[in-house]
Amino acid sequence: MNSSKFIYAFEDGDGRNKMLLGGKGANLCEMTQIGLNVPPGFVVTTEACLGYLEKNQLPAGLMNDIRSHVTALEKKTGKVLGGGSNPLLVSVRSGSAMSMPGMMDTILNLGLNATSLEALIRQTGDERFAYDAYRRFIQLFGKIALGVADEHFDERMAAVKRKAGARLDLDLDAGHLKELAGEFLELVKRQSGKAFPQDPYEQLEIAVGAVFRSWMGKRAVDYRRQFRITPDMANGTAVSVCTMVFGNLGADSGTGVGFTRNPGTGENLMYGEYLVNAQGEDVVAGIRTPKPIAELEAEMPEIYRQLVELRGRLESHYHEVQDFEFTIEKGTLYCLQTRNGKMNARAMVRTSIEMFGEGLISKERALLRVEPSMLEQLLVPQLSPDFHGKSLAQGLPASPGAASGRIVFDADTAESRGLAGERVILVREETKPEDIHGFFQAQGILTSRGGKTSHAAVVARGMGKPCVSGCEQIVINDKARNAVIGQTTLHEGDVITIDGGNGHVYAGEVPTVEAKFSGEMVTLLAWADEVAQLKVMANADTPEDATRARQFGAVGIGLVRTERMFNSTDRLPIVQEMILAESQEERQAALDRLLPIQRADFKGIFKAMKGLPVTVRLLDPPMHEFLPSAAQLELEIAHLHQLNDSIKALKELPDTLKLLNPKLYQQYADGLTRLVGGLHTFEESHLEDDVIRRKEAILKKVRALQEVNPMLGHRGVRLGISYPEIYSMQIRAILEAAALCAREGAEAYPEIMVPQVATVEELKRIHSYVQRIHKVVELTHGINVRFKFGTMIEVVRACVRAGRMAETAEFFSFGTNDLTQATFSFSREDAENKFLPAYTETGILQDNPFEVLDIKGVGQLMKMAVAKGRKTRPELKVGICGEHGGNPVSIHFCHHIGITYVSCSGPRVPVARLAAAQAKLLEREYLDPD
Ligand code: ADP
Ligand code: MG
Ligand code: MG
Repeated sequence: MNSSKFIYAFEDGDGRNKMLLGGKGANLCEMTQIGLNVPPGFVVTTEACLGYLEKNQLPAGLMNDIRSHVTALEKKTGKVLGGGSNPLLVSVRSGSAMSMPGMMDTILNLGLNATSLEALIRQTGDERFAYDAYRRFIQLFGKIALGVADEHFDERMAAVKRKAGARLDLDLDAGHLKELAGEFLELVKRQSGKAFPQDPYEQLEIAVGAVFRSWMGKRAVDYRRQFRITPDMANGTAVSVCTMVFGNLGADSGTGVGFTRNPGTGENLMYGEYLVNAQGEDVVAGIRTPKPIAELEAEMPEIYRQLVELRGRLESHYHEVQDFEFTIEKGTLYCLQTRNGKMNARAMVRTSIEMFGEGLISKERALLRVEPSMLEQLLVPQLSPDFHGKSLAQGLPASPGAASGRIVFDADTAESRGLAGERVILVREETKPEDIHGFFQAQGILTSRGGKTSHAAVVARGMGKPCVSGCEQIVINDKARNAVIGQTTLHEGDVITIDGGNGHVYAGEVPTVEAKFSGEMVTLLAWADEVAQLKVMANADTPEDATRARQFGAVGIGLVRTERMFNSTDRLPIVQEMILAESQEERQAALDRLLPIQRADFKGIFKAMKGLPVTVRLLDPPMHEFLPSAAQLELEIAHLHQLNDSIKALKELPDTLKLLNPKLYQQYADGLTRLVGGLHTFEESHLEDDVIRRKEAILKKVRALQEVNPMLGHRGVRLGISYPEIYSMQIRAILEAAALCAREGAEAYPEIMVPQVATVEELKRIHSYVQRIHKVVELTHGINVRFKFGTMIEVVRACVRAGRMAETAEFFSFGTNDLTQATFSFSREDAENKFLPAYTETGILQDNPFEVLDIKGVGQLMKMAVAKGRKTRPELKVGICGEHGGNPVSIHFCHHIGITYVSCSGPRVPVARLAAAQAKLLEREYLDPD
């Protein structure tokens, strides 16, 4: 640490060194040095702050340095701190390397005391102004430096206003403010036990220490944790001491904030607000309504001209949209702060294109300055920006976008009401694969359980539908068809709105704005594709998803999950037949019915992709996922048995009645005879017996298929080995679909992918099926289908054996969801529901490894597998198709280890394209985390 220099004058500080001077301080230096009109001042460094925090006192010699810099300030300004005829007042401002809006504090008007106050009154001839400045200073200093709570000041203020009959602060005159300042001084003395410091150097010393301390204040610490600001990003706050200028000295003064371009649209037009005769904080405090900056042109034409010039100089210097503060003191314009403007996604994209066009930035910069994940905002509907309502509950932001609709509590209702043209939101504790038909018809999905990688979240993201998951405040009561959130009870059919971008749930319908893929976005992504090395593919299970993926710019499908096709309502019964088959012949009969259906599915996807590669994964999940649960079957069977008993009882009713009450029997004899007759016919039909038998058969099968740990059980390639006819049917469907496309003159390029492979032998076995069927298809269709054969790498052993795997596999695709589970030995759902949140909160893990690829563990296995695989087969194509494929940090790593492509859900494709370009542009700076 350089302990010799703790302070830099604005003329001397290095504007690029934000770590040392804070963002605000560095830019004040920079602006001063390029000749903008900044009130003179100096910056006390973050190193001084760290020194203070370590010893709990200002570093030795710091106060002396401050004194000499104040003396220099006095020379420059001709003013004197704490006295003279021209008193120097300063602001003491916080600011760290990362902007943390509103987290730390600034004290204005420091240097006021009894003497300088008199001088200020004499100098300005404005008693009201001077007392106003004084009471503001006492309050800010009292609060920030001495810890006196705001409410005490507010109480005094309210009392004075009441006495004066004033509605606004502005209605108070000099006398009232003088009285108030006196009361404030008393108040501080009473609350802090010491008289308000009159010596301006003592004021400075206390203020600088207080700003330093605010770095470790609860607000600031929480903020850094929330936004993951680590010490290598910002460590300590700097303090800028800046000569006060006053925007509240009359009609030729004012203050405002500006954006060099419109932060909402990106339009190349100065944007901002100002107030005449006001101090800086008034604009943000909302006490008076500021005017749009355009009005300044008429009100103060010369200042406006200077402001336009300032805007130009800021942009041409910083090569970035700036967000700046200015103050006009008696006709002179001062710039008090500048920083890079925070904009929404639309504005970021537009300004990237336009600033490149204006020669302000390079294409690389245009690509690098847009945060990839922001793009998702543009691809899904959003809540109207004018909406500011209060939400009912907040869950996890599981799939972005906003949607309104009527609540339905099960997938069947979602389907029927959706098909009838209603907009519905599917609300469930959690969803299962068999709910898929409900997803298709719902506008959005809300679950009370499950994480961001729960079934609901993954499926919704794949479909590009909004989803809020794990919204634990909601208690869902399926039976009563209602959901309770705190005091509110929602019924089926009530309208709610969900925002999957932030997890909020609102009652009623909230207006939304539609997604738009702007021309600027198309341009930016085209630039990204020119730069990127990684290809971006999409996960898609239907021709519609595939078409959409193409629109998003996917250059292939990296994952088709065939089981999604099995789940739709017209196929499930056939799939169940296949599973329940007692013999191979029976099973083959069911498969024969599935073959044309799958073939048509694949053909549709191939056609949509027009010759781009389509990677189809053979059946992966355990079979029981296609059957109802044992508990549900038991319940249904019990109900049916009860029905049988009731019928028996009813049949005995006439005889019983005859015995007990012949009169009554006579009265109803006719009806009873007919009823018993009807019951007989029903019994003879054996309808319920048949149903019971069928359900019992299923139950037996379900029990037989039951596994202790299905995710590690009979699934993936293990199924393909046990039931070769299932995989054979799928392989045939794929190859025949490609052959049919070829015959129709459409190009198709299937890639057959085997899931859950652990041993080379498994892969070889499936490969032999493929070779055999490929020959058959060639013979029967007369077409030699071009295809690739490859494996998922999602089992730890497969990573270890990757070298040998690559002898058979022409491509690898990392299934990082399963590979993450296997590497951590975490079951995803259990982890996310039980202990992962605590792990990430307390820092045992930095991120949820199911969202952000665990580079240190899972990533190293991938790196090894890529190296081994390429050693065997240098041209080996390697992809990643997990949730991580669309995550920018993971994409950087994938680029780094030489992966060929990433595959992610359709709406994430643009995000991944931009991230892939950034990975290439930043490859030299890439550091493997350790
Ligand atoms: P923040 O980080 O909260 O914006 P600032 O340090 O920028 O805090 O100051 C708060 C307000 O006070 C801003 O409106 C700023 O323009 C104003 N301000 C700060 N220093 C001065 C000064 N020397 N003269 C006039 N106004 C100032
Ligand atoms: Mg500011
Ligand atoms: Mg998997």
